[in-house]
Amino acid sequence: MELERFKELHARFFGKELPEEVLASEEYEAYSEAIHEDEACYTWATAEKLKSKGFDYGNYCCLMLADKVYESLDEDGEIRYGNPEVVINKWDEGLYGIPVHNGSATMVVINYCPWCGTRLSV
Ligand SMILES: [Zn+2]
Repeated sequence: MELERFKELHARFFGKELPEEVLASEEYEAYSEAIHEDEACYTWATAEKLKSKGFDYGNYCCLMLADKVYESLDEDGEIRYGNPEVVINKWDEGLYGIPVHNGSATMVVINYCPWCGTRLSV
């Protein structure tokens, strides 16, 4: 999908309660497919989301990691421990880890970004 077209649809669909007939429309289907399959659309939409939330994504190797770290935090910026939707944690020291959802606070520390392969630790 053309990014310009995607931006138009994003303005119409994003963050809104959409009626059933809109969700079932071809336009909406093409829009949600583009987020998942078109890298330019994904990158733009994710950057927009993080910007609107005031999340500083500039220091991350890629938007995937920035977005997953953003989603790992609650409204106060604290790590949401024990939440099965959280796939990665970042600590203040710049350490990254994958939470093991077994009821304890187990983490697997990782040294490379799972999405783009950049070395994470110093
Ligand atoms: Zn990355």
